[in-house]
Amino acid sequence: MSYSDYFNPEVETLSVEGLKALQLERLQKTVRHCMNSPFYQKKFQELGITPEDIKTLDDVQKLPFTSKEDLRENYPFGLACVPMKDCVRLHSSSGTTGNPTVVLHTQKDLEEWANAVARCLWMVGSRPEDVFQNSAGYGMFTAGLGFQYGAEKVGMLTVPAAAGNTIRQIKFIKDFGTSVLHAIPSYASRIYEVMKEEGVDPRKDTKLRVLCIGAEPHSEEQRQRIEQNLGVKAYNSYGISEMMGPGVAFECQEQNGLHIWEDYFIVEIIDPVTLKPVPDGELGELVLTIINREAMPLLRYRTRDLTRILPGECPCGRHHKRLARLQGRSDDMMILKGVNIFPIQIEKILLGFKELSTDYLITLETVDSNDIMTIEVEISQMFTDDYSRLKALEREITRQLKDEILITPRVKLVPKGSLVVSDEKKAVRVKDLRKLF
Ligand code: ADP
Ligand code: ZN
Repeated sequence: MSYSDYFNPEVETLSVEGLKALQLERLQKTVRHCMNSPFYQKKFQELGITPEDIKTLDDVQKLPFTSKEDLRENYPFGLACVPMKDCVRLHSSSGTTGNPTVVLHTQKDLEEWANAVARCLWMVGSRPEDVFQNSAGYGMFTAGLGFQYGAEKVGMLTVPAAAGNTIRQIKFIKDFGTSVLHAIPSYASRIYEVMKEEGVDPRKDTKLRVLCIGAEPHSEEQRQRIEQNLGVKAYNSYGISEMMGPGVAFECQEQNGLHIWEDYFIVEIIDPVTLKPVPDGELGELVLTIINREAMPLLRYRTRDLTRILPGECPCGRHHKRLARLQGRSDDMMILKGVNIFPIQIEKILLGFKELSTDYLITLETVDSNDIMTIEVEISQMFTDDYSRLKALEREITRQLKDEILITPRVKLVPKGSLVVSDEKKAVRVKDLRKLF
């Protein structure tokens, strides 16, 4: 690797020891800064600690956790650590799981955020010669402006197409020579479907080369499907508004885990029940402390996202830790007949079948006091309407699902286009209609 392979070579290739020293310095500064917020003052008092107690990186475990509920209870400005006059932007989460939460930024915070996103985009091979199109919603959703400023920082020509209007989206891709596209995975599949309908061949008629996909859980199988369909390399992008938005963790060109920028974050993986760290490399809840934010630093923020740290060195030369593909949130986990199941496990099996499209819906219901799981999945256009072949396919899908999730779901093949996936929002994969008693 040469220096030009990195956007910020000094920090990206910093040694593990170098990163740790930087983290400790920034952590101590952040903790002192948090004392400007009555919320953290109170939490510190309750725990009987002061900023001076943070002497080593392991002391992060002495700090209080911060949860989504804390943000909601102190909505909107209760966690600010600077006067309101120093804040220049407010974002809020997309509210997938309830009331939105608010995050404030100073000018410097925005600058740091843009740097993080630029680093990610550079890492996956974007350069100033590229044309970058963003199909995320602009506005409160952080993936709009977040990617916008990062792509400008790289120096690419940017096309802020925003969400929806797929035909126009495709026209822009063709007319402006878009080579790097950001799209949430369900929408990337939708773009491909519409290209097919419109007779557009992404390999011949577009310059698409790199796709950044994230904001919702997706399986390796879905990534591969997107890569084959669109003739691109697709990279996993993890973002969360409470930390800033996109730019938190991103895959490098090895496509093996997402580097999390440790000069920005201290990473912990905890057991969500005991709140203790899990042994190295085990699955648990991602907890993040942001150590370079002014307006609203958050200590030990419980993301509710489940992942693990990949062991070993990455050949790309970056020592920043790698997160395994995100499994989903702890609240996405379905418990059925005592078995824990994630939608991503089901997706992985479904996308192994070429006959199926990428759209599916899982419904949970109680029938005669039994929990039943029904999976509707669209068949792809080119496939047959021969009844016996469809039934045989249903049986094979059911068999493979049972092997993976240990219960037998009802599988229903439905025609292409019958499951509505929004152009603008994250895909809804699960409908839980069960009675809660
Ligand atoms: P909301 O919580 O309302 O969806 P955000 O827009 O901040 O608000 O979304 C952040 C969440 O999106 C993360 O906590 C995570 O659950 C999910 N997410 C983001 N990126 C990914 C990814 N690459 N893989 C899986 N899930 C992701
Ligand atoms: Zn790497």
